[in-house]
Amino acid sequence: MLVMKFGGTSVGNAQRIEEVCSLVRSSLRRKPVVVVSAVATVTDALTALAKECAQGRGARSVQPIIDRHGEVIAALGLDRSLLEKEYDELRSLAAKTRKRKKLDKKAMDHFQSFGERMSSRIVAAQLRKMGVRAGAFPAWELGMVTNREFGSAEPLEGSYATMKEKIGALKLVPVITGFIGKTKKGEITTLGRGGSDYTAAIIGAAIGAETIQIWKEVDGIMTTDPRIVPEARVVPELAFEEASELAYFGAKVLHPKAILPAMKKRIPVQVLNTFKPKGKGTTIVSGFAERAKGSDTVEAFTFKKNTTIVHVYSPEFFEGSGLLAHVFGLFEKYDTGIDIVSTSVASVSLTIDTDERLEKILPGLRKLGQVEVVRGKAIVCAVGGKVNAAGVAGRMFTALGRDSIPVEMISQAASGISMTFVVNNEDAEEAIKVLHKEYIG
Ligand code: ADP
Ligand code: ASP
Ligand code: MG
Repeated sequence: MLVMKFGGTSVGNAQRIEEVCSLVRSSLRRKPVVVVSAVATVTDALTALAKECAQGRGARSVQPIIDRHGEVIAALGLDRSLLEKEYDELRSLAAKTRKRKKLDKKAMDHFQSFGERMSSRIVAAQLRKMGVRAGAFPAWELGMVTNREFGSAEPLEGSYATMKEKIGALKLVPVITGFIGKTKKGEITTLGRGGSDYTAAIIGAAIGAETIQIWKEVDGIMTTDPRIVPEARVVPELAFEEASELAYFGAKVLHPKAILPAMKKRIPVQVLNTFKPKGKGTTIVSGFAERAKGSDTVEAFTFKKNTTIVHVYSPEFFEGSGLLAHVFGLFEKYDTGIDIVSTSVASVSLTIDTDERLEKILPGLRKLGQVEVVRGKAIVCAVGGKVNAAGVAGRMFTALGRDSIPVEMISQAASGISMTFVVNNEDAEEAIKVLHKEYIG
């Protein structure tokens, strides 16, 4: 079986949806399992709607979302009543929220779930119109049961076996909602923004797919974000480990969690362009060591802005790992991920992926020593088979130095997969341009 996941832009209008359906139809022999995102921008619109309703406003904000889908349905010549049930449920949720003037994470997930529920029904209907036996399924009907972490839910371990069984038993092409699931109690959850890629990988791992195809509006994973460097080129092949570093450090092309389920089962992931279906895209494969042999120096660059650095100076902890253990323990306690660390005898500096809970962490840190928090930083990450080869770091920092871009907290992954460092937010794009020019052209 083949998993084919289509992102928001790929199902962004009637023409795109027809093209996506042709792609599915031409892959029928490989038994496609289709996963879709919401129609482009719809999740943002639903999020905005939810917030307005929570303030008692937004009485007129449901209609544009309905109209957007209505236009697509009309242009495709599908049954105009296709989404009546979803529209009704969304209207009543909006009305209820306006009345209650309250919005928790659970209600937000309910709002956001409509995008994928609507797009999946449109794509399935269009496939049927084109003569393909297809049906739309909210992922929960096929076994996507998650924990109760609304806004960033995780599938329960048992989901994998259930999905394998349920999807395996289907006699038609399922068009499954990305991004959403339900708890055991039946509450709707989301896997986090951009989470449809993750759904595709979970389903691929569950059914033991031959390949997981992620169809987007870019040629594949590029040497850097093409919106910043138009000269960016597609990287034909990456190891899971490299793709995972790129995704984690800001490449908005693949959801960071989407790599792991596929990697565990060694299922190749292809990132392909719906606009150019004949292109080869990027293939993500197992085995960094193997792949690194064919790689020359640096392959791709990414950045992640708005990172916070925390410096802790502690003359008390002169020796050993005492200071690190204390500091890490505090971040762990408050569930705050650490990205880059650099240390000296009596100090530690680290970047954190969210400062949501920093206020809770600070009192504990202050007991250890003097603490300084610096906001507005960006992490830059370079990956490639030989980023730790002689001279690579020198050349990178010389190029940045020529452009007067200050660099701090340089760190190299042990395996030589990546090099990361920190620059000021406002230098991030320029740093990427300089490095791309230096290494890729
Ligand atoms: P989808 O429609 O599948 O959800 P996304 O919008 O999530 O697609 O991801 C594609 C976008 O990611 C592209 O528009 C591109 O600008 C951005 N992007 C950032 N970094 C990269 C990269 N290294 N390679 C390709 N695209 C990238
Ligand atoms: N529709 C969701 C979002 O926009 C999930 C996704 O597209 O992957 O975040
Ligand atoms: Mg996405």
